[in-house]
Amino acid sequence: MKKFVIFGNPVAHSKSPQMHNAGFKSIGFDGVYEKYLLEDGSMIRDVFLSKNFDGANITVPHKEYAFRLADEVVGVATKIGAVNTYIKKDNKIIAHNTDAPGFMRAIESFGEIQDILIMGAGGTAKAIVIALIESGKNVTVVNRSVEKLDVFKKFGCTTFDWCGLQKYEFDLVVNTTSAGLKDDELPMPPKLLEGILKRSKNGFDCIYGRVTPFLKLCKELNINCKDGEDMLLFQGVLAWELFTNLNATDEVMRGMKMALQNGSQD
Ligand code: NDP
Repeated sequence: MKKFVIFGNPVAHSKSPQMHNAGFKSIGFDGVYEKYLLEDGSMIRDVFLSKNFDGANITVPHKEYAFRLADEVVGVATKIGAVNTYIKKDNKIIAHNTDAPGFMRAIESFGEIQDILIMGAGGTAKAIVIALIESGKNVTVVNRSVEKLDVFKKFGCTTFDWCGLQKYEFDLVVNTTSAGLKDDELPMPPKLLEGILKRSKNGFDCIYGRVTPFLKLCKELNINCKDGEDMLLFQGVLAWELFTNLNATDEVMRGMKMALQNGSQD
């Protein structure tokens, strides 16, 4: 039997085991996926190899440690500097980032988009922005504080802090901040955000499982919008394909989605 795991701290609330195990079960794949509370990120390599895991997902706060401790990093992860998936091959650790392509799959439902506003400049924003730039999109990043914006300029984005924001029309406005995760805050001052949304077409919140103030405002303004559940699902599906070396059929994806919706909050 193959063994898979999610490393995080905290990890008790993770929905990944139920999602992956449902996918395994639906095709009779001989595998089991469990949670591992990893307090010290520098131990991730030793734990992964000594416990004979075949693959892993990595969540907050260990994605950067996981990047540094892999034997090989592939794909878009090399630019992001953070990974969420480990695969063991010939006793070596091959690392991937499926968060970024998971986001790209999640926004396909919006149709053709070219001009995107990213609110926030943390780790999630970085992964998403790199994927968008690689796909030839025009990306504007706005953040509460200016210090984190420099790296986004280097990626080729237009950047603003709240006071300087001058562009107002976007095909898609994305919330990557944690505003609305555990509070009732908007990711930008209400008037500024309202002005932008009134001229924009779609809204996406990386937060999932609740109607955030951002999504509430989108709905009030009749902007087409959705939360981050599909992003979570697709990063999981892409990792599952790496774990099993199979393509996830529609039936597998349906099973994984149902498992996500039936479980506790990640
Ligand atoms: P980080 O801590 O790296 O970054 C947080 C960002 O949010 C910073 O830019 C910060 O701005 C900004 N911010 C925080 N609070 C506020 C506020 N009240 N108003 C405006 N800006 C604020 O977080 P991550 O990038 O790791 O995660 C961001 C979000 O994405 C989380 O809510 C997380 O749950 C979600 N997520 C969802 C995933 C999914 O699969 N659906 C996957 C990964 C993440 P400043 O620089 O000024 O402090």
